[in-house]
Amino acid sequence: MPIIAANFKTNHTRSSTAKYVSLVNNYLKTNSTSDVYIFPTATSLDYFETVANLHIGAQNAYATQNGSFTGEIGTEQLDEFYIKTILIGHSERRHILGETQEMIAQKYQYFKALGYRIIYCVGEPLEIKESGLDATLQYMQTQFEGIDLSYENLVVAYEPVWAIGTGVTATNDDIVNVHQALKKQCSKPLLYGGSVKLGNVESICQLDGVDGVLIGTASWVAEDFIKIIENTKEL
Ligand code: PEP
Repeated sequence: MPIIAANFKTNHTRSSTAKYVSLVNNYLKTNSTSDVYIFPTATSLDYFETVANLHIGAQNAYATQNGSFTGEIGTEQLDEFYIKTILIGHSERRHILGETQEMIAQKYQYFKALGYRIIYCVGEPLEIKESGLDATLQYMQTQFEGIDLSYENLVVAYEPVWAIGTGVTATNDDIVNVHQALKKQCSKPLLYGGSVKLGNVESICQLDGVDGVLIGTASWVAEDFIKIIENTKEL
């Protein structure tokens, strides 16, 4: 059964998030699936009573317990809601918010030391993809600098930048080629992300080396996300 994760990015409110989590949780109460993750906005984090395989995670946090880091949240704010899962290295944080590999590695080390489940995202921009598979794999090595790939609580997500939020999904060959190469390097669960939706999730989840999916846009309507889980739970 594949791992299925929903990244809300900057969408949903506290109240719509609570409704969403409740719908997904009710579905999971009567359906057996692998791990399901929901990453709401920081303002919508809360303590949700859920089944054991539904995990609420933070899209981001600063590598601190608390302190003077205006606009950031630390582990004090996550601990309030027993949140122990975090996304690190998402392409929007790398390319829009300007996180460098050094900052990302520092964050990774901090949350690793605290035992968080880390969903660590890597992926190449279009110009690198156009230079071929070797260039793509080489580029991703730079995104593994300072990252302990043997960390027991790690899930890796391969998300080509050009496929995120664009409606352009990587081809099956693209996904298999990269996943097979990454699998040689790292034995952790490996998700694919980039314009995954109801119409392609089943076939992507069946590809060699794909252990699940990280979904942005197509996850934002709870009923659609539940259908995605439903359509992949027998795989
Ligand atoms: C993401 O945010 O990780 C993502 C893959 O987005 P989308 O599904 O919209 O491409």
